[in-house]
Amino acid sequence: MSHGFGTRAIHAGQQPDPTTGAIMTPIYQTSTFVQEAPAQHKGYVYARGDNPTRQALEGCLAALEDAEFATATSSGLAAETIVLTDLGAGARVVAGNDLYGGTYRLFEKVFRNLGLTFDFVDTTDPAAVAAALETKADLLWVETPTNPTLKIADIRKLAEVSGDVPMLVDNTFASPYLQRPLTLGADVVLHSMTKYLGGHSDVIGGTLMTNDAARADRYAKLTNWTGPVPGPMDSFLVLRGLKTLHVRMDRHCDNAEALAAWLHEHPQVERVYYPGLPSHAGHEVAKAQMDRFGGMISLELKGGVEEGKAFCSRTKVFSLAESLGGVESLIEHPASMTHASVPAEERRKAGFADGLIRLSVGIEDLEDLRDDLDQAFG
Ligand code: PLP
Repeated sequence: MSHGFGTRAIHAGQQPDPTTGAIMTPIYQTSTFVQEAPAQHKGYVYARGDNPTRQALEGCLAALEDAEFATATSSGLAAETIVLTDLGAGARVVAGNDLYGGTYRLFEKVFRNLGLTFDFVDTTDPAAVAAALETKADLLWVETPTNPTLKIADIRKLAEVSGDVPMLVDNTFASPYLQRPLTLGADVVLHSMTKYLGGHSDVIGGTLMTNDAARADRYAKLTNWTGPVPGPMDSFLVLRGLKTLHVRMDRHCDNAEALAAWLHEHPQVERVYYPGLPSHAGHEVAKAQMDRFGGMISLELKGGVEEGKAFCSRTKVFSLAESLGGVESLIEHPASMTHASVPAEERRKAGFADGLIRLSVGIEDLEDLRDDLDQAFG
């Protein structure tokens, strides 16, 4: 019998501890496992290869993403590194032109030097993606909603135009509660677990998920062979975070939907980027492929760059910090913070203004969040 999302979030991949009955998966803080005789063991040999706490986490992640296989990694960028290492020198990646800055930097500063090529394209335009894929490609890399301008790529359409080229979707912004790309035609889903999955801004982690057994096996082996595994404590923290993912996401969405509508009408706001607003270019696609619209909002103020930066320093409940997806609200200025490693010209091509502000709307009381933004307008 398949259970609902909330039941899976709380139980999938986990059983009471066989030795004590502990209801919570123990933090198996061990590097190795004793063998009864050479090569005779209980399924665990050395904790880089496998660890019961991590295994429980991977079981739960896969169940939430409607995936058969999940590999947890020590960060979102470690998960990206595994994918790119698997492709190897000579591979060509066609990627969205509005990606997390650290992803762009990993492509350009590390893997381009190792012989991979990257071409950037507007993934909201399936015809442009199809044209980019006319030259042989090994992977289509898509973020939706994008970071930071919250553009929406149509995953089903991209799965059609990508044909035999595998498609990876970075599902960090939506979380599996709002969007499950494997069910829409993606081949690989990637997350920074640091964000909504962990949910409490207390852990760095990543994951890769797929239904392809051979691909999953390569990713698991590469993670073991190259080493970026999450420790047992980090695995436990994400496993605990997952138990409230559905409840947190609903509150993130409630707050963000209300704030986006309010900001949209605000006289000092030039533009609001939120896929839940009917005026957003990707609203219809978002409605069709997401269950709700998420907790991230970007906006431009009428005062431009200087006013935008000053605004970020005036909020009190929204903390000025990088990252997103935690229970507490954050505000940041992408051009000088999360996306400073993306050249100004690339940022302009992706359509994001230097004055853009990004909000990660937390799960505090809506009135307090609105009052805080209100006082920051001055
Ligand atoms: N993908 C997205 C969309 C992100 O926002 C981030 C981090 O901000 C990453 C990947 C990288 O994840 P991590 O910081 O866990 O390495």
